[in-house]
Amino acid sequence: MRAMILEAPGRPLRAAGPATPRPGPGQVLLRVLACGVCRTDLHVADGELPDPKLPLVLGHEIVGVVEDGGPETGRFAPGSRVGVPWLGWTCGTCTFCERGLENLCDRARFTGYRLDGGYAEYAVADERFCFPIPGEYGDAEAAPLLCAGLIGYRALRAAGDAARLGIYGFGAAAHIVAQVARHEGRRVFAFTRAGDAAAQAFARSLGAVWSGAADEPPPEPLDAAIIFAPVGALVPIALRSVTKGGTVVCAGIHMSDIPAFPYDLLWGERVVRSVANLTREDGTRFLALAPRIPVRTAVEIFPLEQANDALDRLRAGRITGAAVLTPLSPSGRT
Ligand SMILES: [Zn+2]
Ligand SMILES: [Zn+2]
Repeated sequence: MRAMILEAPGRPLRAAGPATPRPGPGQVLLRVLACGVCRTDLHVADGELPDPKLPLVLGHEIVGVVEDGGPETGRFAPGSRVGVPWLGWTCGTCTFCERGLENLCDRARFTGYRLDGGYAEYAVADERFCFPIPGEYGDAEAAPLLCAGLIGYRALRAAGDAARLGIYGFGAAAHIVAQVARHEGRRVFAFTRAGDAAAQAFARSLGAVWSGAADEPPPEPLDAAIIFAPVGALVPIALRSVTKGGTVVCAGIHMSDIPAFPYDLLWGERVVRSVANLTREDGTRFLALAPRIPVRTAVEIFPLEQANDALDRLRAGRITGAAVLTPLSPSGRT
């Protein structure tokens, strides 16, 4: 099959032709239709997350069609269109799994990090962790729902019932969360890199009532803020913008160091917390909700072999919405 392979962190992905994977017990073999490019892929490729499987196929927003199943499968008929998220496997027996916090499982395995992912023509996945894809969405449009959408949704829940919601970093996750937040009657304030007029206009087009630079104060206090940008300096900035009792949610898997800040910023029962991974329940709930809103995803589609270009553009902040890879060759052959 064709695949883009990470051989070592810090190196560009290499176009390669590894053997098509065979589904093991509990796994389905998927022909990949589309795979989203997430900021986490950048963190893995750049060596900011420890101990990735190597060599590795990145990609944890996989939309694929079931071609075959290994032993002990049968949840999906061949031909079913399913999605594979970041959470690829959990133990089911640790204290976190037993408490319904499988996102924190001690032995969790993650797609496109400790398991091969979807920057390829084929992938295998544990069928228990796959989701049916709502029929309303095209393949590429559905891909960003699987991480940007799911983890964004979990971050929004962590923000509580905030009526005035700040979002720092207006990329793939934010553009989905803004639509959900607006649907829930919240007012969204979008913060982008200074001078990024295109991102600020994009945020307003998705219902943000205000958009501006991340270091600007919002026009009124916020009840909560979600930080999607991997920039620790935003934590005290966001705390300064939220009112008493407000929560600042750090929604990325990696962030630069958070600078010291005066206790005053936290006083008044403000909360700083992270959101880690997802549970299958998050996925089921969000994928039921998304078509009812309906959430629309803005995608920029790249051929599989241009994965490095997509990653570079994401790193530079030059993607509007979400980048998605498709293994379709120009002739339409897969
Ligand atoms: Zn992701
Ligand atoms: Zn566990």
